[in-house]
Amino acid sequence: MNDALSAPLFRRIGRIADEKGLRAFVIGGYVRDHFLHRPCTDIDIVVVGSGIEVAEALGRELKTKVSVFKNFGTAMLRCDGWEVEFVGARKESYRADSRKPIVEDGTIEDDQLRRDFTINAMAFSLNAGTFGELVDPFDGMRDLENYIIRTPCDSDTTFSDDPLRMIRAIRFATQLGFDIEDETFEAIRRNRERIEIISQERIITEMNKIMLSPVPSIGFQLFDKSGLLELIFPELSTLKGVETRNGKAHKDNFLHTLKVLDNVALKSDNLYLRWAALLHDIGKPRTKAFDPRTGWSFHGHEVVGSKMIRPLFRKLKLPLGEQMKYVQKLVFLHLRPIVLSEEEVTDSAVRRLLFEAGDDIDELMTLCEADITSANDAKVKRFLHNFELVRRKLREIEEKDRIRNFQPPIDGELIMQTYGLAPCREVGMIKEVIKDAILDGTIQNDYDQAYALMEQVAAQYGLEKKE
Ligand code: ATP
Repeated sequence: MNDALSAPLFRRIGRIADEKGLRAFVIGGYVRDHFLHRPCTDIDIVVVGSGIEVAEALGRELKTKVSVFKNFGTAMLRCDGWEVEFVGARKESYRADSRKPIVEDGTIEDDQLRRDFTINAMAFSLNAGTFGELVDPFDGMRDLENYIIRTPCDSDTTFSDDPLRMIRAIRFATQLGFDIEDETFEAIRRNRERIEIISQERIITEMNKIMLSPVPSIGFQLFDKSGLLELIFPELSTLKGVETRNGKAHKDNFLHTLKVLDNVALKSDNLYLRWAALLHDIGKPRTKAFDPRTGWSFHGHEVVGSKMIRPLFRKLKLPLGEQMKYVQKLVFLHLRPIVLSEEEVTDSAVRRLLFEAGDDIDELMTLCEADITSANDAKVKRFLHNFELVRRKLREIEEKDRIRNFQPPIDGELIMQTYGLAPCREVGMIKEVIKDAILDGTIQNDYDQAYALMEQVAAQYGLEKKE
């Protein structure tokens, strides 16, 4: 018994195909993931004939809605938590200027030949007479056992036909921890310029899967080695390299960034925290300067970097809402805990950091700890110890003053009412003074103390209370 096919669904599909005199197979990711013991919720069924017809018959039996995409010859239904997609076996041929193939009906072998990698081209037969037989014309099983990504046919043709496959090769290598076979990798290098015909939406889908992998740096190293990085992510590519002047060198910011990314990945699955790690030093090339006395500096790179986030997100087709603001904020604040840990940690500085980071403070600390990539063990230990002190201080102050989601106890509305003002500069200034006083600890986060300070500042501005 093939335990990949123990669900009754597979027998059912096989029987329906038999009744119609058609052959049916489960193919691709489901088969691969079964052998890799990875969970998989998507099932791809290939029918030699009409996939839609088999899907509709199954839908009738299961009394389930079937979504049919006539133009693509595909149909989809959901069953027992699975998303099952049906397609007719097809043969594809490509033109040079598009990744949209010319499609004709084909045999199962034709269909397997159009798949991207040998490990993705394996199929199990579902017809009763051959149920569970593995159909593996390109020896995907051997590649799976050897952890190899390889194209089923000529690699140049595979990548030139659909250049997204180059990114997918790197994605699978990163996600599964596989190696890309030499000839396949060389073909990626040769065909890298073809990536220009692929939409950014498709690229970012794959890139996010790389970002969510256990060791995401593998993907970016492969992008770099293949020459794809400077085409799809030049801002990251310019972080590369070490410059030496007067015997002084700065670190390679690309390698450092990748280390930080991997460090964060060990601690968190939050995709956008990982993006913040990848982009935390993105402003460095634009702020790089050399002073013969003090050496290299990247002053203000966190400010420049955070300003680069919105245009970068727009270009990469990442979401521009809360996630973007979160990354912007973490990039902007990523040096603050370091500064704090180097100086004596004052309550006031801790309050300000808590106020600015809000609920993202813990993730900011995770990023900052990941940012310590020095090879000097003693230095790493010292930094980590200092960060522990900062974390402790953050906890103490937060418990005492509740600054995280702090709203000053006196708002603009009350100031305007008290002094009969329309919105104006003075209202903003009074609010600011109250906020600063609370953060600096000169008054407590308390209504009466804030009210008294408001009266004091208003008197300085010559404001009189409305009767
Ligand atoms: P994952 O679920 O991790 O995305 P997957 O292999 O299931 O991995 P899908 O994008 O769902 O990825 O693709 C399903 C199958 O379709 C693949 O296993 C592969 O056989 C085939 N396939 C997908 N994209 C391509 C492509 N660009 N070129 C050739 N075959 C492809």
